[in-house]
Amino acid sequence: MDARNDESEEDDGGRRGWRSPGWLTAYLSLAALYVVTVSASLYSHHLLLDLHRETLRLDQVWARRLDGFARLGQLADAVADPVNEVFASGDADAGRERLDAALVPFGAHMAGLREELKAALGSAAEHDDRTALRGLESELADIDAAVDGMLEEAERTFAFYRMGQHDMAGVLAGNMNRRRRALTDGMADLKARVHAIVRAHLEEQGAEGEWLARLERAMGGLAVLFVAAIALWGVRLWRELGRDTRRRARQAAAVAASEARKAAMLATSLDAVVNFDSHGRVVDWNPAAERTFGWTYDEAVGRELVELIVPPRLRQAHTEAARAYLDGAGTVVGERLETVGTRRDGAEFPMEYALTKFVLDGEPCFTAYLRDISERRRGEESLRRAMEAAEAATRAKSEFLANMSHEIRTPMNAVVGMTGLLLDTPLSPEQREFVETVRVSSDALLTIINDILDFSKIESGHLELERQPFDLRDCVEEALDLVAIRAGDKGLDLAYEIADGVPAAIVGDVTRLRQILVNLLANAVKFTHDGEVTILVRAADGAGRAGATRLRFDVRDTGIGIPADRMDRLFRSFSQVDASTTRHYGGTGLGLAISKRLAELMGGRMWVESEVGVGSTFSFEIEAEPAASRRRLYPAALQQSLAGRRVLIVDDNETNRRILRLQVESWRMEPRLAATPAQALEWIEAGERFDVAVLDMNMPEMDGLTLAARIRRLRDARSLPLVMLSSAGRLAAADGRLFAASLAKPVKQSQLFEALTGALGAGADGQRRGPEPARALDAGMGERLPLRILLAEDNAVNQKVALRILERLGYRADVAANGLEVLAALARQVYDVVLLDVQMPEMDGLEAARRVNQLWSPAERPRLVAMTANAMQGDREQCLAAGMDDYLVKPVHVAALKEALERCTPIAGPEAATAALGG
Ligand code: ADP
Repeated sequence: MDARNDESEEDDGGRRGWRSPGWLTAYLSLAALYVVTVSASLYSHHLLLDLHRETLRLDQVWARRLDGFARLGQLADAVADPVNEVFASGDADAGRERLDAALVPFGAHMAGLREELKAALGSAAEHDDRTALRGLESELADIDAAVDGMLEEAERTFAFYRMGQHDMAGVLAGNMNRRRRALTDGMADLKARVHAIVRAHLEEQGAEGEWLARLERAMGGLAVLFVAAIALWGVRLWRELGRDTRRRARQAAAVAASEARKAAMLATSLDAVVNFDSHGRVVDWNPAAERTFGWTYDEAVGRELVELIVPPRLRQAHTEAARAYLDGAGTVVGERLETVGTRRDGAEFPMEYALTKFVLDGEPCFTAYLRDISERRRGEESLRRAMEAAEAATRAKSEFLANMSHEIRTPMNAVVGMTGLLLDTPLSPEQREFVETVRVSSDALLTIINDILDFSKIESGHLELERQPFDLRDCVEEALDLVAIRAGDKGLDLAYEIADGVPAAIVGDVTRLRQILVNLLANAVKFTHDGEVTILVRAADGAGRAGATRLRFDVRDTGIGIPADRMDRLFRSFSQVDASTTRHYGGTGLGLAISKRLAELMGGRMWVESEVGVGSTFSFEIEAEPAASRRRLYPAALQQSLAGRRVLIVDDNETNRRILRLQVESWRMEPRLAATPAQALEWIEAGERFDVAVLDMNMPEMDGLTLAARIRRLRDARSLPLVMLSSAGRLAAADGRLFAASLAKPVKQSQLFEALTGALGAGADGQRRGPEPARALDAGMGERLPLRILLAEDNAVNQKVALRILERLGYRADVAANGLEVLAALARQVYDVVLLDVQMPEMDGLEAARRVNQLWSPAERPRLVAMTANAMQGDREQCLAAGMDDYLVKPVHVAALKEALERCTPIAGPEAATAALGG
């Protein structure tokens, strides 16, 4: 079919064919058998010939004998003739003489025959033959006796004739003739006997001949068979030989091709390849070597390699190294090394070389692979220079950014601080609005600067993540808190869900995780006009590092969406989907780039799915190790009071319904979900029993207030307490008489728990606990206890968290991003309290506290409150030792902050501050 098939068949044939011993043995045995058969055939042929010759001889012998016997008969007749003739001639004497004369040849012939028979008897081998010959002998004896008898009669005939008794003589002659007839009969018998013998002989030889002939035929047949077999075998042999020859030819061709390739490799190699013997003399020198070193092949071969390629000053060292190697001490062989080479014109250049050794005919040989690396060196050099330049540029950029942001932030802080002071002075409403705008814009500008700094820090690889245990739920809730007001203003529903299997607390950087969430949430709220924004936290597929789990966060909105062809731009720095969105929505285009990099730093990734007009889902994963939760879970006794209670949930938003259901089910309550107020009213009217109802404030058909009023007409506050859910900022709208509790969205699990236990009367015994009940937010505090607050915090999100909490307590704080800015701010104006983050760039909180204590007396200086994520033992002592007055652990809870602020006293009135500025 194809060449390969043919070949494999040939190979097969070769393997089990004519070269195998079995095959050869068979062939040799066949040949041996053939030789035997042919010999046997020849021998039988020879026997046949012998037989034939014997037959001929016998024929001649018997023919001769028969002739002899015939002659004997004639001679015997001749003896009788003179007797009979006497009667005609009457001369007895003459007859007598003639008789005697006739007797002589008879006697001689008889003697001859006897002699011959005797001799034959002597030589006859077989018994049969001898019997026959003896028979003949006795016949001859009978003939002799008969002739004697005739002679006797003849004598007497002659005697009577002479005596004239012719009658008597006649009678006697008649007797003699009778005897003669008897003799003739005897002769006939003899002949018959001879014929019988000859026939017997012939039959015997015929049988023998027949057998021999058969044998010869058989042998002949066998021989023909063998010849045929040998011929067949021969053909096969011939074909095998042919294949073998072809195979050998192919192998030879392959070897030749491989040789040619190797030669071509050497000839076309870009590296110089040189062979040399154990005396260091060049044996082979390829074209690259000619080009590199300037010596031609003919010049190089036979000379010492060191002389050709090593600069004179290094030759001694090279020769010694080579000798050391031959003595078994060196290690140059098999390694790639760098050295200096020289060309024919004496020019030196950096050279890389590798030596290998092999043994040919018992002699060690070496191959050197030599490469001129001047180019590479130059490349490396320029690369190094480029790297240095790039590093210098990066350094310069970072320094520039740091300087720039510092330079911008210092006057910005002054602007912010001064507008703050300005707001505390009597202003017309119009002036107040102007000042507020200035302050808001300055805040925005500071945020942008913070983003840029963050981004450059991440880009230059200077960002290090903290590793502290923190509560995941707190982190998510705080992030939601920051956008809650804006979401409420836009009428968006905010919700979150933490799925089963997510650890309550993890070890990581809470600030940066919250930063990602806030960035995504802020975008989601910014680009959504109605609907909802939700966070889903769950365990991600796939394994993380050992001991770590992968967590996945999805921030989903029902906003404007992102066109598919713009998605790839999203995570790039300073890029926005649509240049016009910048004007519409504001922003720097850095938020996503930073968030994505942060997720990657946390061992994860970030991606987005979106559909224009439907919404977007920004997802990211991080790797985190689970930690022991610091939050005590809901007290068992209180949980018990919720178990089995029926709760009516009325909310038009499906996500919210689902999340509320999951939350109450985790306390083993029995939820009943109504998507519309009408549905809820229907159930209540139908007399269904509910222990408590949770009502959403914003619903399209009928708002929560109206629904509550309608419910109240059917059930009183005792039989069905109501809990209201509304957007942050609209809490005031809740009517205390209608509702047992009211909660801001997104609903925090702890608050919901508290509200439900409160509404059901279980929490009244003072067991109530939870991070911070909604009522901890005391908007009047700022009026009761006016304080000028400086917040020192480098992270923008943390700044926002703290500012938001302070805002809810009725305070407006100024911000400093590090210790230096704190000192500058304090020099500029009077603050009653500084909330001081410990870890900050440029100057940390501890150093700032020390400096403040040096520069101002205890009476003049503001109260210093540390805020730190370092909740380790000894941290508190460290802070106090640095001159701080109080200590708060991050994440800062409202209640703790409130307590810390209540311990402060204002230093002097605002006039004093202005005076201080004037002086
Ligand atoms: P910016 O500070 O401008 O918001 P980001 O990097 O956070 O910068 O976002 C880049 C751009 O991605 C935005 O300007 C907006 O066009 C698009 N984008 C981000 N989030 C969303 C979202 N949830 N829905 C629609 N578009 C979004």
